[in-house]
Amino acid sequence: MHATLTVLGSGTSMGVPTIGCDCAVCHSTDPRDRRTRPSVMISFNGRNVLIDTTPDFREQALREHITQLDAVLYTHTHADHILGIDDLRPLTYKHRPGKLPLYASPQACDFLRTMFRYIFEPTYKFGGLPQVALHPIEGPVELFGVTFEPLMVIHGEMPILGFRFGSAAYLTDHSEVPAVTVANLKDLDILFLDALRHVPHPTHSTIEKSLKIVETVKPKRTFFTHICHDLPHEATNGALPPGVQLAFDGMKLEFEL
Ligand SMILES: [Zn+2]
Ligand SMILES: [Zn+2]
Ligand SMILES: [Zn+2]
Repeated sequence: MHATLTVLGSGTSMGVPTIGCDCAVCHSTDPRDRRTRPSVMISFNGRNVLIDTTPDFREQALREHITQLDAVLYTHTHADHILGIDDLRPLTYKHRPGKLPLYASPQACDFLRTMFRYIFEPTYKFGGLPQVALHPIEGPVELFGVTFEPLMVIHGEMPILGFRFGSAAYLTDHSEVPAVTVANLKDLDILFLDALRHVPHPTHSTIEKSLKIVETVKPKRTFFTHICHDLPHEATNGALPPGVQLAFDGMKLEFEL
């Protein structure tokens, strides 16, 4: 099945430009150096599946003219991946009397229920709430005829999820990709990997570290995401090997599911 992947955001948790920063990348006029928080949308057969709801979701949805969402998958519950949940509201109302399904690991479901108690245990009568329902991920998630396979990655000391869908895989926020997950990354057309910067970081991958994964897995096309202001788009891209690029906000990729 034909599908399109849209990069909604390619930036690290603070976004680029970073508030209060005077560096060259934060002042760049290249639109690809403006990075909202990390998220992608997969579109196929009239359906849109979102991965993560970032604090920039509203801006991303307006920019990409998103008028319909059919499911949301969560990688983990760090603020830069969940805080846009309330801005799902207008898109969830279209599901009435049903709810927009959200999928997350059982631990992530617990966290989301606590963090957004006003959504999941509403006690007030006024004001609109996102019409969403949480579903724990306990194995592959079947969505509209497509399998989204959860893949475990290590984010600092925490196991979190990436996803493989058809010939593409999206792994964000990893300091380590365990062998069991590497084994599930065979024959990929598209691979997204975390590449925060060049300097090592306790919870994120670097360009150098992620290039090692690329050498092992050999996807046709690799895109780095969760990028901080250390990496100017054009100059960094120019130094990457063939088939490897930095993702940028608004990038669209065609592939087969
Ligand atoms: Zn993150
Ligand atoms: Zn900066
Ligand atoms: Zn994170």
